[in-house]
Amino acid sequence: MTAVDTEGLRRLFQKFIEDHRQEMLDSLQQLLKIQSIKGPAANQAPFGTGPAEALAYVLSLAQSKGLNVKNLDGYAGFAEYGEGEDYVAVLSHLDVVPTGSGWTHPPFAAEIHEGRVYARGAVDDKGPALSSLWALVALKELGLKPKRKIRCIFGLDEENDWNCVKHYLSKEPEPLAGFTPDADFPLIYAEKGVATLKFEMKADVDSMCPKVIRFEGGHRVNMVPDYAYAVIDCYSETAAREWEQKLFKESRQRQIELDVSLNGSRIQIVVRGVSAHASRPELGVNSIVQLAALLSTNSISNAAMWRAVAGQDTAGRALGIDAFDEVTGELTSNLGMASLDGNTYSFLFNIRYPIDLNQDQLLTQCQEYVSDKWQVTLVENLDPLYVPLESPVVEVLSKVYSEYMGESAEPLTTGGATYARAIPNAVAFGPLFPGQPELAHQVDESWELADYLRCAEIYAQAMLELANTL
Ligand SMILES: [Zn+2]
Repeated sequence: MTAVDTEGLRRLFQKFIEDHRQEMLDSLQQLLKIQSIKGPAANQAPFGTGPAEALAYVLSLAQSKGLNVKNLDGYAGFAEYGEGEDYVAVLSHLDVVPTGSGWTHPPFAAEIHEGRVYARGAVDDKGPALSSLWALVALKELGLKPKRKIRCIFGLDEENDWNCVKHYLSKEPEPLAGFTPDADFPLIYAEKGVATLKFEMKADVDSMCPKVIRFEGGHRVNMVPDYAYAVIDCYSETAAREWEQKLFKESRQRQIELDVSLNGSRIQIVVRGVSAHASRPELGVNSIVQLAALLSTNSISNAAMWRAVAGQDTAGRALGIDAFDEVTGELTSNLGMASLDGNTYSFLFNIRYPIDLNQDQLLTQCQEYVSDKWQVTLVENLDPLYVPLESPVVEVLSKVYSEYMGESAEPLTTGGATYARAIPNAVAFGPLFPGQPELAHQVDESWELADYLRCAEIYAQAMLELANTL
């Protein structure tokens, strides 16, 4: 079975899927019923028993189909097919985020309604993980002989710290290239770098101005904060009433949504903004910036700091790091969290930076630009991902996708972070088709069964061609 053309292969894969349709659907429901949310570590289950059970299920299914499998100490596992040392990889994950409440169909019942399966993990990422596994089973059962070995790697910690892949790469050789079925078709070849920067400043204490004694805002650094809170001590009840009026006036002028309450000499202020994802901060309204604007215009102590915070924009200009590249566009900056701890203010920024910058440049530029009263540190970083359009991975996957769809489509870039960054030379490839809504992490997460089956077909073709090209 060597000289089979694309059309012939496609018919073979379709026949395989038709013949295995019921088995594919049954296995999907079984996997989706496992509650693979991260939990306390147990023996051979560093991320808890749920993710471990999901991995055991997938590996035993793969083994029953004659694939080689390996469980890497409960961190990750793989199923593989083919000969030789070098391999291409499909990286997916079996852990899921918590369910939240308000589901119409229970999140771990895997009910099917009108051709869609409803479950936490249906599309992110247990469904697509299983599409890739069935694609590998198809290659084996059809007796196709790829030039390189092909591995489906299953991670168990994607939704948290990616310690699954870190462990995998400490035990196993790197793949030549690969893809992750955990984002969008046609494919994502460039992703901005993602850094969290912390700005700290010691508050002035000796001023006689009204003084902020509590301050906090935001819940997660990767979201535009829709909530910020401060308590100001004005030293007397009369002064507090005056300041309350000033704050109201100021908030009306600036159109800021505000709740104020008085307690003796103290004023408590809550500002409500509009949340948005940190990769698109311009879509939100930042409550920390708004609250800082109110505090800076009322000559409360630390006025210079409040002015600096109030001046924050979503392009990083106020931090001296605004930048742009032709591939991923503009840098974005999100002031996501703030707090006052003792006498120290800290502000956490989530920065999404272009592919031609790196974390050291980013940090240095900030440090040189802002007042030296700020102490700036890098808390976390994900390097940018860039796999050029003319690389074999992008060329092969683009070709497979456009042949399947009967039309070509532009490869994508993103300010988000996909699992593709976890392994070298990889891109995100599906499972969402252009125009489909993003249901990952949402209540009533679901996936079209027809997409589950057609992803298996696309992935079988993609794996085989990648393995034969690299
Ligand atoms: Zn995912």
